[in-house]
Amino acid sequence: MLVKSIAISLALAQFASAAEYWESFKSQVDPKNITLPKIAQTTSYDEVTQCTYYEPTNFQFVESEWPTPWEIATSNGMNSSQEFRNLVNSINWKAMPNITARTMGADGAIDMSNYDEAKDPDCWWSATTCTEPKHEGVNPDIYACPEPETWGLTYDDGPNCSHNAFYDYLEAEKLKATMFYIGSNVVDWPYGAQRGVKDGHQIADHTWSHQMMTSLSNEEVLAELYYTQKAIKMVTGVTPRHWRPAFGDVDDRVRWIATQLNLTTVLWNLDTDDWAAGNTEPLSQVQGNYEDFIKMGSNGTFATSGNIVLTHEIDNTTMQLALDYLPQIKKNYKHILDVATCMNITYPYMEKTVSFAGVGNTSTVTSAVATAAGSATSSSSASSSDSAQTAADKESSASKVSATGALALALIIALFA
Ligand SMILES: [Zn+2]
Repeated sequence: MLVKSIAISLALAQFASAAEYWESFKSQVDPKNITLPKIAQTTSYDEVTQCTYYEPTNFQFVESEWPTPWEIATSNGMNSSQEFRNLVNSINWKAMPNITARTMGADGAIDMSNYDEAKDPDCWWSATTCTEPKHEGVNPDIYACPEPETWGLTYDDGPNCSHNAFYDYLEAEKLKATMFYIGSNVVDWPYGAQRGVKDGHQIADHTWSHQMMTSLSNEEVLAELYYTQKAIKMVTGVTPRHWRPAFGDVDDRVRWIATQLNLTTVLWNLDTDDWAAGNTEPLSQVQGNYEDFIKMGSNGTFATSGNIVLTHEIDNTTMQLALDYLPQIKKNYKHILDVATCMNITYPYMEKTVSFAGVGNTSTVTSAVATAAGSATSSSSASSSDSAQTAADKESSASKVSATGALALALIIALFA
């Protein structure tokens, strides 16, 4: 009994404050000295080859210690683990805004029928594109780069296992983006996430399983964020200070829970709709969006402040769209920047080991030269391709709500230019 109570008090001491949770993650990776092994998965441009399962040398995925990939992050007993209970107990839930979880309709979309959109009491982005929280103790959102003529470069849903050509292009062009990684993808494709940090991109949290966050319980929201923070830290050596909700679905309850983990919400003010290309929208329509946004770089729309653009790593269509249009974006905008740089955030991670230099300076992140190292490859087929497809499908069906809001904003910007 005595032993048990000592163990509990030690565990509680570990989470004296929720904000210090990340200090308990013991990563084997030095974010300033990442070396990727030169195996087919990290060098090939062939989709099937890149997406062949491998076991990394510096991160071991022990199934019993993690949520089930692509399921809500309280799965696999995580909701009752001592680690997660300690985290839950370290939070003063009485201070949380009194907002209940939303419900999903039979059509799979979130139900907004009983929400007062005119008053928007909860600053619910899906309903109103609200970005100014209305409750106390909530970090305000970031949704546009303040620097004029700046394209805020962001890619969601990675690390995509077939992103080598895309990341090689960004590296060659010295472009840095904010990469919003899904926790399940990080543990499935750890070298993909390490490549992001090695190349100096800003890594941020995009939840464990890409759910509509306002529809989840308090503990489910916490777990979706927490286990993604842990995955990113264990795999890359850094813990993000920023996150983006899937489909932009955030309200003040979800923002408040994110704030407990010292996370700030990042949204966008231009949405390319690239996930829908050739899917629910013709490719030409998404190309039209890109072309409209590119024109805004030189027609005065962003003469006094910049944008943050929503684009995706999801698949080869979305990555090819980026490759097709980045040359024109470069020509039409003064800056193409990751969010940390455009916001002049020196330390976008909890650790102070990696710093960003801000607008007008080059990032101080040192890129280690990739060298061949001992590698562990496996010939078994990709274990998560079906799940990844499911996530992409979910994105396709549920993004309409958020996309509409962002496009409306884009139209307003265009009209007032
Ligand atoms: Zn997403």
